[in-house]
Amino acid sequence: MSDALEALLQEGRTFAPSKEFRKQSLVSSAEIYDDADHDWQGFWAHQALELDWHQEWHTILEWDLPFAKWFVGGKLNVSENCLDRHVTAGHGEQVAFHWEGESGDVRSLTYSDMLVEVCRTANALKQLGVAKGDRVAIYMGMVPELPIAMLACARIGAVHSVVFGGFTAQSLKDRINDAQAVALITQDGSWRRGSVFDLKAVVDEALIECPTIAKALVLQRASNDVVMTPGRDHWWHEVVADQATECAAEVMDSEDPLFILYTSGTTGKPKGIVHSTGGYLTQVAYTHKYVFDLHPDTDVYWCTADCGWVTGHSYIVYGPLANRSTSVMYEGTPDYPDKDRFWATVEKYKVSIFYTAPTAIRTFMKWGDEYPLRHDLSSLRLLGSVGEPINPEAWVWYYKAIGGERCPVVDTWWQTETGAIMISALPGATTLKPGSATFPLPGIQAEIIDDSGKTVGVPGGGYLALPRPWPSMLRGVWGDEQRYRDTYWSRFEGKYFAGDGAKTDDEGYFWLLGRVDDIMLVSGHNISTTEVESALVDHPAVAEAAVVGKTDSTTGQAIAAFVTLRAGHDPSDAFVEELRNHVAKLIGPIAKPQSILFTDDLPKTRSGKIMRRLLRNVAEDEQLGDTTTLADPSIVASIKSRYLSAAPSED
Ligand code: ATP
Ligand code: MG
Repeated sequence: MSDALEALLQEGRTFAPSKEFRKQSLVSSAEIYDDADHDWQGFWAHQALELDWHQEWHTILEWDLPFAKWFVGGKLNVSENCLDRHVTAGHGEQVAFHWEGESGDVRSLTYSDMLVEVCRTANALKQLGVAKGDRVAIYMGMVPELPIAMLACARIGAVHSVVFGGFTAQSLKDRINDAQAVALITQDGSWRRGSVFDLKAVVDEALIECPTIAKALVLQRASNDVVMTPGRDHWWHEVVADQATECAAEVMDSEDPLFILYTSGTTGKPKGIVHSTGGYLTQVAYTHKYVFDLHPDTDVYWCTADCGWVTGHSYIVYGPLANRSTSVMYEGTPDYPDKDRFWATVEKYKVSIFYTAPTAIRTFMKWGDEYPLRHDLSSLRLLGSVGEPINPEAWVWYYKAIGGERCPVVDTWWQTETGAIMISALPGATTLKPGSATFPLPGIQAEIIDDSGKTVGVPGGGYLALPRPWPSMLRGVWGDEQRYRDTYWSRFEGKYFAGDGAKTDDEGYFWLLGRVDDIMLVSGHNISTTEVESALVDHPAVAEAAVVGKTDSTTGQAIAAFVTLRAGHDPSDAFVEELRNHVAKLIGPIAKPQSILFTDDLPKTRSGKIMRRLLRNVAEDEQLGDTTTLADPSIVASIKSRYLSAAPSED
């Protein structure tokens, strides 16, 4: 970071939208918040009217805590809203997806192309016996047929359950069986960092113990050898190609389930989160339009998530298509063939809106500025972040090295359970503070409460809770009503408990502090993992950090830190001291890590989030808990052996 920017950040500099950005933005004043506050249900109904309905609802909201029904009596089809209506309106030739294969092959699919492919696939699913209400598992790489498969399910009223195409046979099997899926859509193999991941072999292993699956539809992508089970397995190119190019869309009830998505499992056994049709589509379309200030005729939008996560569902598929976006979709990893692949792609397609995760941003920081510097990134006008708290240092790096100090950075807080963005800036109206997700969106209410559930004043810190229903809220945990009540609605009466800690500053800005399960208690003080990690990442040599509390006889808990350095920096004992002092300087001596272990990598979920629960096991010298959701289990094993052989420094 430049000294000038660093100085600005230290002074608590804020970033107001520029005049140029404001001039062209959809929302440039705070009036919309007043509109929404004045009549929040009416506000949501107004957003819902942006969609095409076969029949309008008779009641906006039925709220029988904790069960919400939105746009009751309304009828619509999601795939029609995402495709047909744009084609009918004359936009059939607009590109929906510029798809970029990892090895450099490209495809562009227009809205007309998408509609034809979705109809064919929907007809193929019907031929294979899939009917309205059936669950269909999807286990694929990032190819256009993945959103096509999702939309084909939506078209016939089948409920999809996308399982990230990197999960193991065990994870796939568990998810298929929990949802009782009748069909599976997959592919032979997917490309990842130049090699083929044999998806079909994983499927074959999983399906041995999946009695409900009658049919598998297999896309040929990597041409690796696969075994096709007669009667069960069908090639996509054989079954889909000859289907009729029209398929009447099933008219769905607003409250019919659209999909089930299992949460990644950072905290425990995956839960099948159920999402609805009308409310879900309303909020994803609304948030995608206003948070990303989408101009469908001119913007090129790229969300780098995988469709296997909720971000891919809401902000690669449903939100962008409902809003007639032109998107980039990329198959592979950011370092293939080199670490500038994302920036080459931004330049190539003139991407204007770019949405990624802090874990990716910190990785790019670790790799260094030379990679973005190779490319012309001047097409960018807006940047977004999701998935974890973004450290101020990473925010500023993103703002500067990627956004050229020109693009607002919207930090978007939400969850698989919320379905859509809940807390975020509106880029033309909100003055940004690096590291803060700013304010609940118009229509959304969020508050911070204490242990007893009482609202904490501003400024103040505590638990993040959502006191009133929102259209895209989860409709339950698949097949487990009690778990829905217990997990989300039992801790604080009448309020949705998100599991995250947060605080407001004196201007009411929201700052997310990490999961409450991770919060540390040192000498009677609650210390947030996010704040200590951000202080560590603030040091110019540090790329990424994770901290956990470990039992300590004098302070209750002591802070154990795990730190990854940026390229060109080496660890030393003196540096450990420097870092500890750096944290003490920024937060106070109480937050000083007792031990710091340098490591090349941190244990992360397959969606890229730091898994502190396992680091806590390491620090406490306990048996490692469930590691099945880790992207690379060898990382935590190596950290464990190094941690045990290093003597933690004492104060
Ligand atoms: P699981 O619920 O299975 O443990 P998960 O919580 O990682 O998995 P997601 O629903 O993808 O699964 O992630 C939501 C969580 O991610 C939030 O509860 C929050 O902890 C974190 N998060 C997402 N976006 C932000 C953000 N902008 N700022 C801070 N935290 C965020
Ligand atoms: Mg969660």
